[in-house]
Amino acid sequence: MRLILLGPPGAGKGTQALRLVAKYGLVQLSTGDMLRGAVKAGTPIGHRVKDIMDRGALCPDDVVVNIVAERIEQPDARKGFILDGFPRTVPQAVALDRILKKRGIALDAVIEIKVDEDALLKRIETRIAEMTARGEPLRADDNPQVLRQRLAAYRAQTTPLVAYYRKKKVLRTVDGMAPIPDVTTAIDKALSPGPAARAGAADGIKRKRRIKPMEPRLGIMGNKSSKRPQAARKSSAARKRATRKAKGGDIARP
Ligand code: AMP
Repeated sequence: MRLILLGPPGAGKGTQALRLVAKYGLVQLSTGDMLRGAVKAGTPIGHRVKDIMDRGALCPDDVVVNIVAERIEQPDARKGFILDGFPRTVPQAVALDRILKKRGIALDAVIEIKVDEDALLKRIETRIAEMTARGEPLRADDNPQVLRQRLAAYRAQTTPLVAYYRKKKVLRTVDGMAPIPDVTTAIDKALSPGPAARAGAADGIKRKRRIKPMEPRLGIMGNKSSKRPQAARKSSAARKRATRKAKGGDIARP
């Protein structure tokens, strides 16, 4: 399974990603974590992005796209992954399409965790204040001012992805303001082959094939047609055409 978690900072993408990792055995690919790792390790990329990240702005598309392209190639990502924090711009999404196409794979779903920005800001400000009071370390971009900047970046550059993925019919939206377990349940529902996924199938989401239970063997008087494979069964229109043809009255259709 290949998923994208879409949502502003603080929406709970990381928390939900961890649950999905545990449930589906996927790897979580967080561009934020990868970039922070590069900064910490003092790599050339780290030097390039440090100030940008500290300001709460978005790093250049080419930098992030190259990191993701390389990471997706790793063996642990073969059985599936969750992209957390990527893509964040339309050019990144276009680049991701190209990367996936080249590898002959496709996205299963894009989960949008929808939140109310004002409530989110309050929630995060409270969390930062609590962490500060407990003396816990904060990230450089974990302060209310930078947070506002990160939310503004999300609104301006990332929200167009909602329409982008809706058009591709892979978007699933869940209410991120609900309690964490409820968000998890909503995501599970969006990914499971229930009514939501049936709608998803119409939307272009890939569904697992249902395996039909074996039908009991019928006696010689049984209805054999029910044992024939679907493709071999004629639709009623096809049956009528065959009857007309047998009677010499069939008309070729364009
Ligand atoms: P996150 O931990 O996902 O909130 O990311 C932290 C910071 O890393 C962001 O504020 C950006 O500066 C940078 N970043 C992470 N992912 C991306 C991305 N896909 N495109 C551009 N910048 C990113």
